[in-house]
Amino acid sequence: MKNLRTAFMSLVALSALAVGLIISCGNDNNVTPTISGSVSITEVVINNYKSGVTISTNGNSIVLKSNGLPDHKTPYWGAGNALYEDFPEGYHANVNTSMSAHNYSMTIPANPSVSSSHEETTLGPIGMALNGVPIYNDREGGNVPLDTLTITTFDYSGAHPGPGKDYHYHTTGKYTTVDDDNLVGFLRDGFPIYGRRDKDDIYPDDLDTYGGHTKATEEFPDGIYHYHASNVNYLNTGYYILKAGSYYGTKGTFTQ
Ligand SMILES: [Zn+2]
Ligand SMILES: [Zn+2]
Repeated sequence: MKNLRTAFMSLVALSALAVGLIISCGNDNNVTPTISGSVSITEVVINNYKSGVTISTNGNSIVLKSNGLPDHKTPYWGAGNALYEDFPEGYHANVNTSMSAHNYSMTIPANPSVSSSHEETTLGPIGMALNGVPIYNDREGGNVPLDTLTITTFDYSGAHPGPGKDYHYHTTGKYTTVDDDNLVGFLRDGFPIYGRRDKDDIYPDDLDTYGGHTKATEEFPDGIYHYHASNVNYLNTGYYILKAGSYYGTKGTFTQ
């Protein structure tokens, strides 16, 4: 009986060891240090941007062109348009502005890498969503943080047009990412930006001061540095800022 129990305990110990080995192997696969600069984004860019975005490569750069108009519903299409939908409840169309097509062109590195200067994001486009709509940071004209009054002009996508009739996303939203691990687009430094979760559905707890970390994603199974949308309910509005602060990498151009 004693021998049997000893044998059983040995088996348990052995199993635990095996499980431990499997777990540590799994962890090893998730640790992807010092890969910045070696990951090409070209294939993922080509495979994930929607048809409204024209993509070309130019040496080590990728050029993305769009007219910046959303491929989804928003009140900013105007009543009568097939893609018109009303504002979220409590929000209003107290805006005289409408949106119009632009000639956007974003040039990003095909192999994005970390920058030592970490330039701060500024007003205007800091990236492009997969449908060609520009991504903005958490600021408005005058470089002041978005306030609740401005946010009442947001549609379900956390977006609105500026004075230049330039429709743009400030936050997460119904047609990009709500509370998931969706790839939203790429910022001007060539690094991808995702929703609030990682692909294992967990909210990341190791984001750096730029709002990102290096880890495997659905589109980059070998790992890449990527940003996440903020996990803070901004001013209790139900919107989550996509990106604030500085770039991780070196910023490319965005012209119109
Ligand atoms: Zn804005
Ligand atoms: Zn992540």
